[in-house]
Amino acid sequence: MTDVKAFDSFHVLPVLPESLQPLRDLAMNLRWSWREQAHNLFRSMDPALWSKTGHNPIMMLQQLPASRMNELANDESFLLWMNQEVADLHEYLTKDLWFSKTTAETEDAATSIAYFSMEFGVHQSLPIYSGGLGVLAGDHLKSASDLGVPLVGIGMLYTFGYFSQSLSAEGWQQEIYESHAPETLAVAPVLDEQGNHLEVSVLFPGDRIANIRVWKAAIGRVTLLLLDTNLESNPEDFRSITDRLYGGDVEHRIKQELVLGVGGVRAVQRYCDINGAARPDVYHMNEGHAGFLGIERIGQMIGEGEDWATALATVRASTLFTTHTPVPAGIDRFENHMVERYLQGGDDGTSRLTPGVPVHEVMQLGREDDPSRFNMAHLGLRLAQYANGVAKLHGAVSRGMFKGLYPNFDEPEVPITSITNGVHTPTWTRGPIKPLVNALAGGEELATVEAWKHTDAVTAAELWNVRNELRTELVTRARGLVSDSWQERGAQEAELGWTKNILDPNALTVGFARRVSTYKRLTLMLQQPDRLRAILLNEERPVQFVIAGKAHPADMGGKQLLQELVRFADEAGVRDRIVFIPDYNISMGKFLVAGSDIWLNNPVRPQEASGTSGMKAVMNGGLTLSISDGWWDEVADDEIGWTIPTAPHGDDSQRDRWEAQALYDMLEHEVVPMFYDRDEDGVPQEWIAKVRNSMSQIGARMSAERMVRDYCTELYLPAGRSARMAADRERTRAFAQWKVRIAENWDGVRVLSASAGEAATAAGSASRLQATVDLGALMSSDVAVQGVYGRRGADGELIAPTVVNMTPTSDGNYEVATVVDAPGDYGFTVRVVPAHEMLRSPAELGLVRYA
Ligand SMILES: *Cc1c(COP(=O)(O)O)cnc(C)c1O
Repeated sequence: MTDVKAFDSFHVLPVLPESLQPLRDLAMNLRWSWREQAHNLFRSMDPALWSKTGHNPIMMLQQLPASRMNELANDESFLLWMNQEVADLHEYLTKDLWFSKTTAETEDAATSIAYFSMEFGVHQSLPIYSGGLGVLAGDHLKSASDLGVPLVGIGMLYTFGYFSQSLSAEGWQQEIYESHAPETLAVAPVLDEQGNHLEVSVLFPGDRIANIRVWKAAIGRVTLLLLDTNLESNPEDFRSITDRLYGGDVEHRIKQELVLGVGGVRAVQRYCDINGAARPDVYHMNEGHAGFLGIERIGQMIGEGEDWATALATVRASTLFTTHTPVPAGIDRFENHMVERYLQGGDDGTSRLTPGVPVHEVMQLGREDDPSRFNMAHLGLRLAQYANGVAKLHGAVSRGMFKGLYPNFDEPEVPITSITNGVHTPTWTRGPIKPLVNALAGGEELATVEAWKHTDAVTAAELWNVRNELRTELVTRARGLVSDSWQERGAQEAELGWTKNILDPNALTVGFARRVSTYKRLTLMLQQPDRLRAILLNEERPVQFVIAGKAHPADMGGKQLLQELVRFADEAGVRDRIVFIPDYNISMGKFLVAGSDIWLNNPVRPQEASGTSGMKAVMNGGLTLSISDGWWDEVADDEIGWTIPTAPHGDDSQRDRWEAQALYDMLEHEVVPMFYDRDEDGVPQEWIAKVRNSMSQIGARMSAERMVRDYCTELYLPAGRSARMAADRERTRAFAQWKVRIAENWDGVRVLSASAGEAATAAGSASRLQATVDLGALMSSDVAVQGVYGRRGADGELIAPTVVNMTPTSDGNYEVATVVDAPGDYGFTVRVVPAHEMLRSPAELGLVRYA
């Protein structure tokens, strides 16, 4: 630095030589981020600048010195490499993929999906995510691209994104918000028919219009539309709507959600119209944040002259809602008066935000137990005929949590299914293990892995070598990052020599990185500090922990937990065995999950909806040590990992003590001995056998590719079919009227008799179940008469009953033959439920009549 002051200023514009122009196309499609060769191509241009820009090729191209540019422009081998990548991208973007093959020559081929999410974690260089929900949404887009699923993402382009984390000298979390100009990101303006940057708008109270600019990012074959209110034409309070993710107060949050939901529908429709593409027919709300999208769609139909009930039925037929939290406190809720204020009801009671929509009807859709609150998850569920949780256990918990929305039906019949999360294999497998994963997959391309079953293709020694390589990479990087962190905490570089020797590339490494949220119990391991210290400092069989995670800026409790952990590491004489690395993000996640031998997960059951970081560890040959919760609950098996038992009873603190004890026991008696039990070549055979089992048994099951296929076959394609059915307005209007008629006449429905025939039948032979019903004013085509049977519990209740449709034999009489295989005491009853081709589940109307 000099004291010379600038007299004038000038700007040096980047120049991209003609022969290097294709680099810009490569950089503008984030596909490069999951293709190693393309990633390496960019890095090879200038490794230091690559790292300085945070692996952002757009910034690289803007900042690379002209001299280096010219060198590359004349480097034959570089140009050859670049052209190979261009050709590969072209092939990727045009080839025939799973979706088109699967739906060929069926009506399903026409289905297209709009996927709304508040955050998307695609790559570190597109900072519009905070954690698991965003990374999941990013992986969803990538796998949709790999499979050729016609899906458009809709999200927000935040000026500041989420915060970067550092620590104070005392170990207290510091938040830094950096602004990101769109020009430095892999986003391009969406242009309208006149070639202007596309804008849509949303009307806020006081007749104030917020303009929203629409950008697009290319995620392979998938377009991600991003909404941005940071426009000069907006007043300051509107410019800041898209300033940061999960920042600000509830007022800020509701504005964001209105921009995403209402603005997002307008944006995606305009985008399709401009491009002459069909508008999406299926709308997927990834969490309740996007709930208002359904209100906008209803408003559009009312504007076309449709009535409320028909418009609602049409939206429901084509909407999918995914819930991600089993914790009621995790759900977005607003005060009613706030929602009413933003809906802006006029004298006629209809909304000015979404013209024509009756405000009181919208308020009904968001109602919950607390009459003063508007619940975004309830809104989502009431606007969607399709709904799911994100792991099997989470599906069950959600059915319990939301059963009040489907009165008179038991939990198992609540129409919320589950699709277990998955992670995008090419993104989350680290370079050194990719060839082994490919070999395990029988040489198939990663993205088309059916099962990683060719376990003989890889020797134990090969697997172990790669594991050592990945652990060493983690240790090396952690040393550098811990040193950086101490400098930020005020230490002088000269005092930090010790950081060069922290961690041991050969020691059993336990990873733990996730949001610092109370239920995830970051500090469970600190329950008995002396015991932990003994585990860490064992001379023959040392254990080390690498830990990362951000607390939400407003979560003081979370920040305290974090500080407690950092202080323990600082003060307990274990700073070389337990390290906290600040600023957990996608790029850190990649080497952290890959380098850990054990991925530790100890949430309070059943509060972890799914969790995905453990899946990423599996993909890289890490082993799971977890509470039976989220995704692990459905695969937990001693052959592939370790399950920490859950406390049988007790209050929260007894539970934590008990489970921490179980954790220490497992580490001391099972995990550590197995890791250090080596053969004559130094290979831990038993350990590696477990790694092999884990990768081959659950690698493919936990891939986002499996997840997106499941979404397609179980939800998107059925929703596409019902959307097309509902697009026939006559039919939907008749359905809406049918619902009213059914509700009005339900009181007249009676089950007059039910009989299971013989008092005893032999196992395996058929019983004839019979019933007589009186439907009052309803017709037999309005209902299903169902036999319900199952084992009888102590109080005569049916345990996990089977439901079968009975067939009419004569007026009011129904019967069905059933075969019960297992001998025992069974109970039987009959019920009548509404039935209609446009009804997905009998529970939707909350009407049922039992014998
Ligand atoms: C995978 C991932 C998460 C989610 O981890 P969970 O196990 O679901 O808590 C959060 N943040 C980042 C950066 C990730 O990569």
